[in-house]
Amino acid sequence: MVYSLLTKMIVLHQIIFTKLIWRQHVGGGIGELLRRRAALIVSMDTAMETTESRADASDNPNNASSGDDDTSLEINHPPPLLTPIAAPSLAGTESDNVFPDSTLQTTGESVELLEPAPVNTDPGLPAPRKRRRRKKQFPEMISIAAVDGLGVTRHKSGNRSTEDIDEYEDDDPSSRRRRRISSDLDVEGLIAISVGFPADSLTEEEIEANVVKTIGGTEQANYIVVRNHILALWRSNVDIWLTRDHALEAIRLEHTNLVDSAYSFLLEHGYINFGVAPAVKEVKLKPPQGSSRGDVIVIGAGLSGLVAARQLIFLGFKVVVLEGRTRPGGRVRTKKMSGGDCIAAADLGGSVLTGINGNPLGVLARQLGFPLHKVRDICPLYLPNGKTVNPEIDSKVEVSFNKLLDRVCKLRQSMMEEAKSIDVPLGTALEAFRQVYRVAEDPQEKMLLDWHLANLEYANATLMSNLSMVFWDQDDPFEMGGDHCFIPGGNDLFIRALSQNLPIFYNRTVERIKYGSNGVSIYANGQDYHADMVLCTVPLGVLKKKSMEFIPDLPQRKKDAIERLGFGLLNKVAILFPYDFWGGEIDTFGHLSDKSSMRGEFFLFYSYSSVSGGPLLVALVAGEAAIEFEKMSPVESVKRVMEILKGIFNPKGIAVPDPLQAICTRWGQDQFSYGSYSYVGIGASGNDYDILAENIGGGRVFFAGEATNKLYPATMHGAFLSGMREAANMSRIEKKRRLKLNEVK
Ligand SMILES: Cc1cc2nc3c(=O)[nH]c(=O)nc-3n(C[C@H](O)[C@H](O)[C@H](O)COP(=O)(O)OP(=O)(O)OC[C@H]3O[C@@H](n4cnc5c(N)ncnc54)[C@H](O)[C@@H]3O)c2cc1C
Repeated sequence: MVYSLLTKMIVLHQIIFTKLIWRQHVGGGIGELLRRRAALIVSMDTAMETTESRADASDNPNNASSGDDDTSLEINHPPPLLTPIAAPSLAGTESDNVFPDSTLQTTGESVELLEPAPVNTDPGLPAPRKRRRRKKQFPEMISIAAVDGLGVTRHKSGNRSTEDIDEYEDDDPSSRRRRRISSDLDVEGLIAISVGFPADSLTEEEIEANVVKTIGGTEQANYIVVRNHILALWRSNVDIWLTRDHALEAIRLEHTNLVDSAYSFLLEHGYINFGVAPAVKEVKLKPPQGSSRGDVIVIGAGLSGLVAARQLIFLGFKVVVLEGRTRPGGRVRTKKMSGGDCIAAADLGGSVLTGINGNPLGVLARQLGFPLHKVRDICPLYLPNGKTVNPEIDSKVEVSFNKLLDRVCKLRQSMMEEAKSIDVPLGTALEAFRQVYRVAEDPQEKMLLDWHLANLEYANATLMSNLSMVFWDQDDPFEMGGDHCFIPGGNDLFIRALSQNLPIFYNRTVERIKYGSNGVSIYANGQDYHADMVLCTVPLGVLKKKSMEFIPDLPQRKKDAIERLGFGLLNKVAILFPYDFWGGEIDTFGHLSDKSSMRGEFFLFYSYSSVSGGPLLVALVAGEAAIEFEKMSPVESVKRVMEILKGIFNPKGIAVPDPLQAICTRWGQDQFSYGSYSYVGIGASGNDYDILAENIGGGRVFFAGEATNKLYPATMHGAFLSGMREAANMSRIEKKRRLKLNEVK
């Protein structure tokens, strides 16, 4: 039924397709507005960081979207040549632990294992291709909000307008100096954009915080210049505690009130002076002067919980973190692997900083002095028989795949105009188009197309058949710009720094949250904890499972959003080898499957040789294969990975050594997560993230975590920013409540 409706729509779409005009995204307004403001506000230059333009996701089909854990299973191997393989240690079910299969340690190849792997010079290797692990960005889907943020809005306020300022500027004789100021302000605007602010309008948060008296006037325009300036000033040196006086230095005295407003806003909302630099920590974790603003319990010591707890302490609250696991970090989990002389740090959960521009984790890396390793875009693909994919076919299918996505994008626009509430699975729509356009009918092309679909299933942690065609990529316009990066040593380095000196109680699984007008009562491990407010950061998977009781029950509106939004699965197999046999010059390579339903099984390998401290490969399991993977024994899984690797490298004359240690994740069975990350399911939309973020109980129970962040869901930085958001929110609501109480008194 849906399918035939879709086919009809596609035909209709084909007719109207040529009439559709692609909306052009012109970003020239920022500089213009800022130039107008320059002479009025800024009186001196300041050093600042430069930033790449964030609009690096090309729509060019040829430049395709190149883009424990506690239940993870470990298999430890002795060094090659030693048999039998040692029994693995297992932090989950014991029975899966055995690794009886001797084929993995056949010594036939192991003589060669003592030699360093030859550098891969096979002329049959495919030409390097750019593939990024990201969703595709459709320019025409850039939300109105995002585009508005870049446009120049001209508001009259009193007798002055932006046009008046133009004239004022033109009268100024020192034009060269003005031009320099203007270009500085352009950079400041770009930095603001990279951090997530519109360069020339206010965010909802700013409006709620009453940063200006009148929305849309000259005061607002001036405030924005000041705000962008302070942001850029701190980002130019994130090791310092930026004081209000320092911020004021470059601003004319008559704008002191704007500096006060912007400085307080940015500080309280964690846009400046955040992180783990000694100067920042010294101020932030100082015991509050005067009496506490109230008691807060944070449930969960993942990124969002840790960030929120630190900020709440700074804002004057007494904070306790209750964490169900025996470690901090949640879905960020770096596991030390070892065997023989090799050790490596494997990220079993969040791994890649997906866009470094403006990314708060990039700031932490700078503060901690960690170098970032750019994930190189080269990603050769291999057929099931191990042969390299013909570059021409590879290129052709990639172009076709992107065109199919473009077509779906246009279809959804016309469908939304026709019948507003229709949504279908993204997979169904793509398949319908594939058939209509007769794309990838040849078996090899079909396998390649399946690889791209597996890549989308990885980005969204679910099957194509679960994704909303209309809203699956609603967050794309906000994607952090810049390179995708690894942190050498793993993301646990962030977790360790963020959890230092925090009052975290481990092994406290919260079972119940009771809330009322007097506060909250949290029940965990047979103990009740009382506080004024609670911040719940448990993953959406835990909320879906209803393993935590809310008394009174959650509002229906929130329950519906929890139901609608998806929480999907991505798993990994991390394997430590005695040496890097795949060649150090690439960070990724892909493997095609001839079985469509298993296209996500080990479809992509990440090499962590250059960042983990040892020869480490991580194979990803996405889509349907990720679910099946959790039913397989880890022994079987590792065996399968080894077969694939041997199939690729042996014919090239490269021996694949026995692994020293292997770990298989089981994120779906993890009782503190029940999955990997959120996605927009059929019938859901970006608004559901906002609903999940809404506080309940008259400002007593708050929610943070990646699945509460509409703009940056499913990411580490999204979790980070949600923690900051809620700390500010709790502070604002506590202030309101206090004022109200004082009024009554
Ligand atoms: C396999 C995988 C790969 C990923 N890859 C990337 C990537 O490359 N890049 C990226 O940016 N993001 C990636 N992510 C997503 C990213 O890791 C998450 O978005 C982010 O870490 C979530 O942080 P959070 O604070 O929202 O939740 P969590 O980190 O899950 O924190 C929630 C905390 O609550 C605790 N908890 C749960 N239930 C209870 C309870 N009842 N009582 C007490 N405590 C409880 C949990 O133990 C956990 O510590 C990946 C995730 C996974 C699983």
